[in-house]
Amino acid sequence: MKQGGIDPGLKRLFQQRLLRWYRYHGRDLPWRKTQDPYHILVSEVMLQQTQVDRVLGFYDRFLKRYPSVEELASARRSQVREAWDGLGYYARARNLHRTARRVTHRHGGQFPRTYEEAQALPGVGRSTAGALLSFAFGTETPILDTNVKRLLSRIFIQRLSPRPAQTERRLWRLSADLIPKGKAWTFNQALMDFGALVCTAKNPRCSTCCFTDICRAYPRLMRERDRRRG
Ligand code: SF4
Repeated sequence: MKQGGIDPGLKRLFQQRLLRWYRYHGRDLPWRKTQDPYHILVSEVMLQQTQVDRVLGFYDRFLKRYPSVEELASARRSQVREAWDGLGYYARARNLHRTARRVTHRHGGQFPRTYEEAQALPGVGRSTAGALLSFAFGTETPILDTNVKRLLSRIFIQRLSPRPAQTERRLWRLSADLIPKGKAWTFNQALMDFGALVCTAKNPRCSTCCFTDICRAYPRLMRERDRRRG
Protein backbone atom coordinates (compact mmCIF):
# COMPACT_ATOMS: atom_id res chain seq x y z
CA MET A 1 0.00 0.00 0.00
CA LYS A 2 1.26 3.48 -0.83
CA GLN A 3 1.90 5.88 2.02
CA GLY A 4 -1.24 7.88 2.70
CA GLY A 5 -3.55 5.69 0.62
CA ILE A 6 -3.98 2.78 -1.69
CA ASP A 7 -2.29 2.65 -5.08
CA PRO A 8 -4.93 3.70 -7.67
CA GLY A 9 -4.10 0.79 -10.03
CA LEU A 10 -4.41 -1.76 -7.25
CA LYS A 11 -7.62 -0.15 -6.08
CA ARG A 12 -9.19 -0.34 -9.54
CA LEU A 13 -8.12 -3.92 -10.03
CA PHE A 14 -9.55 -4.96 -6.66
CA GLN A 15 -12.85 -3.19 -7.34
CA GLN A 16 -13.24 -4.67 -10.82
CA ARG A 17 -12.44 -8.23 -9.80
CA LEU A 18 -14.63 -8.12 -6.70
CA LEU A 19 -17.61 -6.70 -8.58
CA ARG A 20 -17.18 -9.26 -11.35
CA TRP A 21 -17.02 -12.08 -8.80
CA TYR A 22 -20.19 -10.76 -7.13
CA ARG A 23 -22.06 -10.71 -10.43
CA TYR A 24 -21.71 -14.48 -10.70
CA HIS A 25 -21.49 -15.61 -7.09
CA GLY A 26 -23.33 -13.05 -4.92
CA ARG A 27 -25.99 -14.52 -2.67
CA ASP A 28 -29.65 -14.02 -3.36
CA LEU A 29 -30.91 -12.85 0.03
CA PRO A 30 -34.33 -11.38 0.90
CA TRP A 31 -32.89 -8.21 2.49
CA ARG A 32 -31.13 -7.45 -0.79
CA LYS A 33 -34.48 -7.09 -2.53
CA THR A 34 -35.59 -4.13 -0.44
CA GLN A 35 -34.48 -0.59 0.18
CA ASP A 36 -36.66 -0.19 3.24
CA PRO A 37 -34.20 0.96 5.93
CA TYR A 38 -36.22 -0.73 8.66
CA HIS A 39 -36.10 -4.14 6.91
CA ILE A 40 -32.40 -3.67 6.22
CA LEU A 41 -31.70 -2.76 9.82
CA VAL A 42 -33.59 -5.84 11.06
CA SER A 43 -31.40 -8.05 8.85
CA GLU A 44 -28.17 -6.29 9.85
CA VAL A 45 -28.94 -6.54 13.55
CA MET A 46 -29.83 -10.24 13.21
CA LEU A 47 -26.62 -10.85 11.26
CA GLN A 48 -24.45 -9.20 13.91
CA GLN A 49 -24.02 -12.45 15.80
CA THR A 50 -25.86 -15.05 13.75
CA GLN A 51 -25.04 -16.87 10.51
CA VAL A 52 -27.00 -16.07 7.34
CA ASP A 53 -28.63 -19.54 7.09
CA ARG A 54 -30.10 -19.21 10.54
CA VAL A 55 -31.20 -15.60 10.07
CA LEU A 56 -33.23 -16.39 6.93
CA GLY A 57 -36.22 -18.00 8.72
CA PHE A 58 -36.22 -15.51 11.59
CA TYR A 59 -36.09 -12.48 9.31
CA ASP A 60 -39.28 -13.40 7.44
CA ARG A 61 -41.12 -14.35 10.60
CA PHE A 62 -40.13 -11.17 12.44
CA LEU A 63 -41.18 -8.93 9.57
CA LYS A 64 -44.49 -10.74 9.20
CA ARG A 65 -45.18 -9.89 12.82
CA TYR A 66 -43.73 -6.35 12.68
CA PRO A 67 -43.80 -5.21 9.04
CA SER A 68 -43.07 -1.56 9.79
CA VAL A 69 -40.95 0.43 12.17
CA GLU A 70 -44.12 1.93 13.69
CA GLU A 71 -45.56 -1.51 14.40
CA LEU A 72 -42.38 -2.58 16.15
CA ALA A 73 -42.34 0.69 18.09
CA SER A 74 -45.83 0.10 19.45
CA ALA A 75 -45.14 -3.50 20.54
CA ARG A 76 -44.56 -4.38 24.17
CA ARG A 77 -41.04 -5.32 25.16
CA SER A 78 -42.12 -8.84 26.18
CA GLN A 79 -43.71 -9.37 22.75
CA VAL A 80 -40.51 -8.35 20.97
CA ARG A 81 -38.53 -10.65 23.22
CA GLU A 82 -40.88 -13.48 22.27
CA ALA A 83 -40.57 -12.72 18.53
CA TRP A 84 -36.79 -12.87 18.89
CA ASP A 85 -36.91 -16.17 20.73
CA GLY A 86 -34.38 -18.67 19.37
CA LEU A 87 -32.00 -16.09 17.90
CA GLY A 88 -30.20 -15.37 21.16
CA TYR A 89 -28.25 -12.26 22.20
CA TYR A 90 -31.47 -10.57 23.29
CA ALA A 91 -29.80 -7.23 23.82
CA ARG A 92 -30.08 -6.92 20.03
CA ALA A 93 -33.89 -7.19 20.21
CA ARG A 94 -34.02 -4.67 23.04
CA ASN A 95 -31.90 -2.19 21.08
CA LEU A 96 -33.85 -2.74 17.88
CA HIS A 97 -37.05 -2.02 19.78
CA ARG A 98 -35.57 1.16 21.28
CA THR A 99 -34.38 2.21 17.82
CA ALA A 100 -37.87 1.67 16.39
CA ARG A 101 -39.34 3.88 19.12
CA ARG A 102 -36.74 6.57 18.57
CA VAL A 103 -37.19 6.60 14.78
CA THR A 104 -40.97 6.67 15.16
CA HIS A 105 -41.26 9.25 17.92
CA ARG A 106 -38.21 11.44 17.38
CA HIS A 107 -37.69 11.26 13.63
CA GLY A 108 -41.32 10.97 12.52
CA GLY A 109 -40.79 7.43 11.19
CA GLN A 110 -37.89 8.46 8.93
CA PHE A 111 -34.53 6.78 9.39
CA PRO A 112 -31.62 9.20 9.76
CA ARG A 113 -29.44 9.53 6.69
CA THR A 114 -26.18 10.73 8.16
CA TYR A 115 -23.46 8.45 9.46
CA GLU A 116 -23.35 10.25 12.82
CA GLU A 117 -27.10 10.08 13.40
CA ALA A 118 -27.30 6.44 12.31
CA GLN A 119 -24.52 5.49 14.73
CA ALA A 120 -26.41 7.20 17.54
CA LEU A 121 -29.26 4.67 17.24
CA PRO A 122 -29.25 2.04 20.01
CA GLY A 123 -27.24 -1.05 19.04
CA VAL A 124 -26.06 0.47 15.75
CA GLY A 125 -22.29 0.50 15.62
CA ARG A 126 -20.11 1.98 12.92
CA SER A 127 -20.29 -1.03 10.58
CA THR A 128 -24.05 -1.53 10.97
CA ALA A 129 -24.54 2.19 10.29
CA GLY A 130 -22.39 1.89 7.16
CA ALA A 131 -24.40 -1.10 5.95
CA LEU A 132 -27.74 0.55 6.75
CA LEU A 133 -26.92 3.74 4.85
CA SER A 134 -25.24 2.13 1.86
CA PHE A 135 -27.92 -0.56 1.42
CA ALA A 136 -30.94 1.68 2.05
CA PHE A 137 -29.78 4.97 0.49
CA GLY A 138 -26.70 4.09 -1.58
CA THR A 139 -24.53 6.32 0.62
CA GLU A 140 -20.80 5.76 0.24
CA THR A 141 -20.28 4.62 3.82
CA PRO A 142 -17.80 1.87 4.67
CA ILE A 143 -18.46 -1.37 6.51
CA LEU A 144 -16.05 -3.45 8.56
CA ASP A 145 -17.62 -6.58 9.96
CA THR A 146 -15.50 -9.60 10.91
CA ASN A 147 -15.50 -11.05 7.40
CA VAL A 148 -14.55 -7.75 5.75
CA LYS A 149 -11.82 -7.11 8.32
CA ARG A 150 -10.26 -10.48 7.59
CA LEU A 151 -10.49 -10.08 3.82
CA LEU A 152 -8.98 -6.59 3.70
CA SER A 153 -6.19 -7.33 6.12
CA ARG A 154 -5.21 -10.51 4.27
CA ILE A 155 -5.10 -8.81 0.89
CA PHE A 156 -3.70 -5.39 1.72
CA ILE A 157 -1.76 -5.49 4.97
CA GLN A 158 1.71 -6.97 4.91
CA ARG A 159 2.36 -6.75 8.61
CA LEU A 160 -0.31 -6.18 11.23
CA SER A 161 0.48 -3.50 13.76
CA PRO A 162 0.93 -4.82 17.32
CA ARG A 163 -1.53 -2.08 18.26
CA PRO A 164 -5.02 -3.34 17.31
CA ALA A 165 -6.53 0.17 17.34
CA GLN A 166 -4.04 1.27 14.69
CA THR A 167 -4.85 -1.73 12.48
CA GLU A 168 -8.55 -1.04 12.95
CA ARG A 169 -8.12 2.60 11.87
CA ARG A 170 -6.16 1.51 8.82
CA LEU A 171 -8.83 -1.01 7.83
CA TRP A 172 -11.60 1.57 8.17
CA ARG A 173 -9.66 3.91 5.91
CA LEU A 174 -9.14 1.13 3.38
CA SER A 175 -12.79 0.09 3.41
CA ALA A 176 -13.85 3.70 2.79
CA ASP A 177 -11.20 4.37 0.15
CA LEU A 178 -12.03 1.26 -1.88
CA ILE A 179 -15.73 2.05 -2.49
CA PRO A 180 -16.19 2.80 -6.20
CA LYS A 181 -18.15 5.98 -6.94
CA GLY A 182 -21.89 5.30 -7.11
CA LYS A 183 -21.51 1.58 -6.37
CA ALA A 184 -21.55 1.44 -2.60
CA TRP A 185 -24.52 -0.94 -2.45
CA THR A 186 -23.00 -3.60 -4.70
CA PHE A 187 -19.46 -3.17 -3.45
CA ASN A 188 -20.31 -3.54 0.23
CA GLN A 189 -22.54 -6.57 -0.45
CA ALA A 190 -19.70 -8.08 -2.48
CA LEU A 191 -17.16 -7.50 0.30
CA MET A 192 -19.43 -9.28 2.76
CA ASP A 193 -20.05 -12.23 0.47
CA PHE A 194 -16.45 -12.68 -0.55
CA GLY A 195 -15.33 -12.69 3.09
CA ALA A 196 -18.08 -15.16 4.03
CA LEU A 197 -17.79 -17.52 1.05
CA VAL A 198 -14.19 -17.43 -0.23
CA CYS A 199 -11.82 -15.75 2.21
CA THR A 200 -13.16 -17.68 5.17
CA ALA A 201 -11.53 -17.73 8.61
CA LYS A 202 -10.67 -21.42 8.46
CA ASN A 203 -9.50 -22.96 5.20
CA PRO A 204 -9.89 -19.96 2.89
CA ARG A 205 -10.59 -21.08 -0.69
CA CYS A 206 -7.42 -19.63 -2.13
CA SER A 207 -7.42 -22.12 -5.01
CA THR A 208 -10.59 -20.52 -6.40
CA CYS A 209 -9.73 -16.93 -5.44
CA CYS A 210 -9.24 -14.16 -7.99
CA PHE A 211 -6.80 -12.23 -5.74
CA THR A 212 -3.92 -14.67 -5.31
CA ASP A 213 -1.54 -12.43 -7.28
CA ILE A 214 -2.13 -9.40 -5.04
CA CYS A 215 -2.97 -11.02 -1.71
CA ARG A 216 -0.32 -10.35 0.94
CA ALA A 217 -1.36 -13.35 3.03
CA TYR A 218 -1.48 -15.86 0.18
CA PRO A 219 2.21 -16.95 0.23
CA ARG A 220 2.11 -17.44 4.00
CA LEU A 221 -1.13 -19.41 3.84
CA MET A 222 0.34 -21.66 1.14
CA ARG A 223 3.47 -22.26 3.21
CA GLU A 224 1.31 -23.18 6.20
CA ARG A 225 -0.79 -25.51 4.09
CA ASP A 226 2.33 -27.24 2.71
CA ARG A 227 3.73 -27.64 6.21
CA ARG A 228 0.49 -29.25 7.37
CA ARG A 229 0.61 -31.70 4.48
CA GLY A 230 4.23 -32.49 5.34
S1 SF4 B 1 -5.84 -15.63 -1.77
FE1 SF4 B 1 -6.75 -16.71 -0.02
S2 SF4 B 1 -6.30 -15.39 1.72
FE2 SF4 B 1 -6.01 -14.16 -0.10
S3 SF4 B 1 -7.97 -13.16 -0.46
FE3 SF4 B 1 -7.99 -15.02 -1.64
S4 SF4 B 1 -8.95 -16.53 -0.30
FE4 SF4 B 1 -8.33 -14.80 0.99
